[in-house]
Amino acid sequence: VKISRISDIQGRTLKEREQKLREAGESLKMMEAQRKKLVSDISHELGTPMTSIQGYVKAMLDGVVPADGEYLGMIYGKVQYVNQLVADLFQLSRLESNKIPFTFRLLTPEELLRPYTTKFKIDADKAGVELSFTSCSQAAEAPIGSRKLVKADPYRIEQVMTNFVHNAIKFTPSGGAIQIEAELGDAPGEQSGTSLIVRVTDTGIGLHEESLPYVFERFYRVKAADGEGVSGTGLGLAISREIILQHNGTIGVISKYGEGSTFYFTLPMVDMEQKGTMV
Ligand code: ADP
Repeated sequence: VKISRISDIQGRTLKEREQKLREAGESLKMMEAQRKKLVSDISHELGTPMTSIQGYVKAMLDGVVPADGEYLGMIYGKVQYVNQLVADLFQLSRLESNKIPFTFRLLTPEELLRPYTTKFKIDADKAGVELSFTSCSQAAEAPIGSRKLVKADPYRIEQVMTNFVHNAIKFTPSGGAIQIEAELGDAPGEQSGTSLIVRVTDTGIGLHEESLPYVFERFYRVKAADGEGVSGTGLGLAISREIILQHNGTIGVISKYGEGSTFYFTLPMVDMEQKGTMV
């Protein structure tokens, strides 16, 4: 409940005014609780690696451990992680406050997705995972007039795809497979208008059902069986969600623990006649 002007609560009965003020108070309290949680999460996420760095350096200074490649390498890894975390946080906060300009273009699904498939294949290959890409042939076969184009910022969509595919590689053991599919259809929950649906499916470790509602939240990471968190800032999917929402699209995941996951997003499509238009 937002009360921005006094007239928002004037002209009501006393009871209504009290109710309105109470609701506004509740939502302020909720925002304050969210802000506190964010500050505490950030302190924790930054504090943990910083404490390790301090410990390693102190141990070296005291001569408890040698200042050799092994320890310097560990420190370097932590510093790199802190840097990545700060960069991701900065980007997420700029996205959330609409400070990142998007350059939307009208493209065919192929034009949007094809450019990075080779790069992804090489990345997957290195991890011993097979990667395939199937794009909606529908779009190419349809008569020109009825073809649809997707309105997207290719650079930002590449970022989302990189996050999905790199996660798929990270959470899929060697010998597994990743499939990227693009097809036209109705976005889940949407009645009107065609969308481009892009799915990244892996045969990896999958997610427990109780994790599914949280994976797109900042800092959410599933703990590995040995209690150790996997590498990563836990911000990639939160950034991806912001990017897709700013495209008026939807984002989601379907997964089965032990079998694999499908991360998907949808983007609204428009008629071909508008090609060339910068939006
Ligand atoms: P991170 O940088 O830690 O990977 P993300 O926001 O990209 O952060 O992902 C959040 C969490 O979601 C991951 O730590 C992991 O627990 C889970 N996750 C993401 N992608 C997959 C996947 N393909 N298979 C299984 N779990 C995944």
